[in-house]
Amino acid sequence: MANNDESRGLKSLFDWFANRRKNGTISIERPEREIADGLWHKCPKCGVLTYTKDLKANQMVCSECGHHNRVDSDERIRQLIDSNTWTAMDEHLRPTDPLGFRDRKAYKDRLRETQEKIGLIDAVKTGLGEINGLPIALGVMDFRFMGGSMGSVVGEKLTRLIEQATQRHYPVVIVCTSGGARMQEGMLSLMQMAKISAALDRHQQARLLYIPVLTNPTTGGVTASFAMLGDIILAEPKATIGFAGRRVIEQTLREKLPDDFQTAEDLLKHGFVDEIVPRTQLKNTLAQLIALHQPPAATTSSNGNVLLWEGKMSLTSAES
Ligand SMILES: [Zn+2]
Repeated sequence: MANNDESRGLKSLFDWFANRRKNGTISIERPEREIADGLWHKCPKCGVLTYTKDLKANQMVCSECGHHNRVDSDERIRQLIDSNTWTAMDEHLRPTDPLGFRDRKAYKDRLRETQEKIGLIDAVKTGLGEINGLPIALGVMDFRFMGGSMGSVVGEKLTRLIEQATQRHYPVVIVCTSGGARMQEGMLSLMQMAKISAALDRHQQARLLYIPVLTNPTTGGVTASFAMLGDIILAEPKATIGFAGRRVIEQTLREKLPDDFQTAEDLLKHGFVDEIVPRTQLKNTLAQLIALHQPPAATTSSNGNVLLWEGKMSLTSAES
């Protein structure tokens, strides 16, 4: 009798879950838990509970399995830049809606809602600061803002950052995370790829360093432009990096792709990435690379503009 009741109970509970799933009231894939409003954080990879404070102290990397939880742009800047050295750039640039675009929602409403919800104006923060005492121009993309998509503001802010760095003879570091170009801005969004790439080319012509850091996920137009144009390309462990999505490629090739396809590790194996650096070592690694690539002492004009560094000047005079 008791057994019957039990099996009946189990069956009805099962039905109940099945119904809820069918009705869509339970989402099977749960989003990564926000950590701001909880003392504990459950690792989405290994399930271990960590005290939020400890997780933050470990830069949001699970101490049990090494899973790199997503971090927002402010947190990333705190992790990388020496305290009290950050000066933000171009914070006044705001996105517009040149096409009057509408999908399920009008683009301008989507923008306003996202801005209100997360307190960012667009998907990238840029600025100048120091990393272990070395000057650097840093751009950090933020996935929370429409999937880190690259619209006109992202392109313009990154271009101005790179141009400022070229002028000052600073190295550029861009922490990438993006779903790709922002389709709501159409062609204007795609143009950003060329604009940023051109600025990076001028930076390279001045023999200055550029290091992109590819974090989870870096895809689409960002991969097809500045994420892959680095002198040295770094990636975070297990980051998804690719152009088109896995499903699209599988359907086109009619072939099953290997499990580690489009991971940082696979890209390293094939030479697309130079090194995989755990987040807890990222600041020191970047500082070391920048220190190794410092140009010789720069010559500064009276108005503060760097003219030419001495190495290049002597080369020029030797040629002439
Ligand atoms: Zn874990």
